[in-house]
Amino acid sequence: MTDYIVKEKGIEAGRSYIIEHLQDQPSVRGFAKLIELEKEFFMSDPHFKQLQSLITRYIELKPLYECNSCGFTTNHFSWRCPACNNWQTIKPLAGLDGI
Ligand SMILES: [Zn+2]
Repeated sequence: MTDYIVKEKGIEAGRSYIIEHLQDQPSVRGFAKLIELEKEFFMSDPHFKQLQSLITRYIELKPLYECNSCGFTTNHFSWRCPACNNWQTIKPLAGLDGI
């Protein structure tokens, strides 16, 4: 959504959207998006690339979906859980590590 707003309305509108979204639903992925939008201000900082790399690695380790029935986690949505075979139990993770 942020990418769409940046494309249609500019970086300032995208920045406002993500800050508002983070206040309602704080998440590491949202924070990473904000840092990406702010990169023009941080690029001169020698630690910017390192910070961005650390956040990206953290996000890559966190799954996007979880089965409400058995707790199986995955980065790919599926209507049927491959672990317990229940239907419609795979849901997006919420909270700081969520989408
Ligand atoms: Zn399951």
